[in-house]
Amino acid sequence: MIILQRPKKLSKPIALSQEEKIKWMTRLLTKANLVGERGEVPIAAVILDKRGRCIGYGENRRETTKDPLGHAELVALRQASWINNDWRFNDCTLIVNLEPCPMCAGALIQARMGKIIYGSEDPKRGALGGTINLAEHKSAHHKMIVEKGLMEEESKKIIVDWFKDKRLLGKDLLSKLR
Ligand SMILES: [Zn+2]
Repeated sequence: MIILQRPKKLSKPIALSQEEKIKWMTRLLTKANLVGERGEVPIAAVILDKRGRCIGYGENRRETTKDPLGHAELVALRQASWINNDWRFNDCTLIVNLEPCPMCAGALIQARMGKIIYGSEDPKRGALGGTINLAEHKSAHHKMIVEKGLMEEESKKIIVDWFKDKRLLGKDLLSKLR
């Protein structure tokens, strides 16, 4: 016999104050810096439930685990669905320092994430406005609230600096090889 879980009563994502948002993003940027030091693109994400409790945390670990699905948002989503015991996230909020890519934005829409808050836009791969807006796309049956530009400068700097360092390191290695 198959017992289908009855959908929970829908409630809204928490209304975070600006101070709380900054507090979370500051933590994420500190974590992202450590991620960057490990040779991964410095991205970290957190998922908060309707009361503002952290139910999922993820860091980009694509290189470490050799996993194309190892993006911070998906790692956080997996953990949160385990804690939540549900795949629906209508009353939850995901915060991440960089605009989600098409894979992550698609997963977040499928997960019915209530709200997304991100720091820096990604004009190369961003899928919530940077290159395409999947949240507004006709395939998105679920409407997510998207808030961009939280600590934008700091969020952008961490990504730009990481790629700059990587290029410099690449040049340094090349010069040693020559
Ligand atoms: Zn992604």
